[in-house]
Amino acid sequence: MTGGASGIGAAIVARLLAEGYEVDSLDIVNGFDVSDPAAWEAVGPVDLACLNAGVITGEADLELLTVGQYRRALGVNVDGVVLGARRLAHVLEPGSVIVATASLAGLVGVPDDPIYALTKHAVVGFVRSVAPQFAERGIRIQAICPGWADTPLTDDAFKGELTARGFRLLRAEDIAEAVLVAARSEGTGEAWIVQPGREPINYAFKGVPGPR
Ligand code: NAD
Repeated sequence: MTGGASGIGAAIVARLLAEGYEVDSLDIVNGFDVSDPAAWEAVGPVDLACLNAGVITGEADLELLTVGQYRRALGVNVDGVVLGARRLAHVLEPGSVIVATASLAGLVGVPDDPIYALTKHAVVGFVRSVAPQFAERGIRIQAICPGWADTPLTDDAFKGELTARGFRLLRAEDIAEAVLVAARSEGTGEAWIVQPGREPINYAFKGVPGPR
């Protein structure tokens, strides 16, 4: 479980504990940096791995985006998932499941934070693309794609603005529920949309038209 110290991760931890799992939370606040390849070398097998740590850049304007903001978002949101999945490919037993926390920002454009959208599209594309090789070994990998939630990821001003625009914020607990739904479904390489007041939905990707 990465990013388990706050927000959605903390809700996933609480839910998994309530379900009887033993949970190990790997978080930067406890000294585990998901973007550090060496950190993953100590990670062993689990039944359910949640690759959840993530950050926003908080910058809508590309001209103002700093290289530090850009690299941090790619490091946590993309490297953190890829390096985690790479290690898990090495250690997981058949029957295990990986759930990566992507975002609706992995399926739609996000003018408020284009780099965040870039990283979450990467997570969705990665999960869909590595699912077949995990499937050969009896391991499933799923992505969840929640809309904006009421967590410390975004500041109160942003959340207030969203609410004023008519958005309803998700509760972290609803997303924890969606993690279990995605983990327990029989599918793999799927992207589960999570929105307020709805059951999690397995997103039906439209195929490309193909040659004429
Ligand atoms: P949060 O800020 O409350 O929690 C993120 C956690 O990740 C924190 O505990 C933080 O310490 C940890 N973290 C940050 N950098 C790390 C690193 N380098 N290594 C290890 N841990 C690190 O945010 P949240 O809202 O709980 O977000 C969790 C996930 O859900 C993220 O991937 C986020 O992109 C995604 N998500 C959030 C929302 C939302 O609106 N909050 C919506 C959709 C998806």
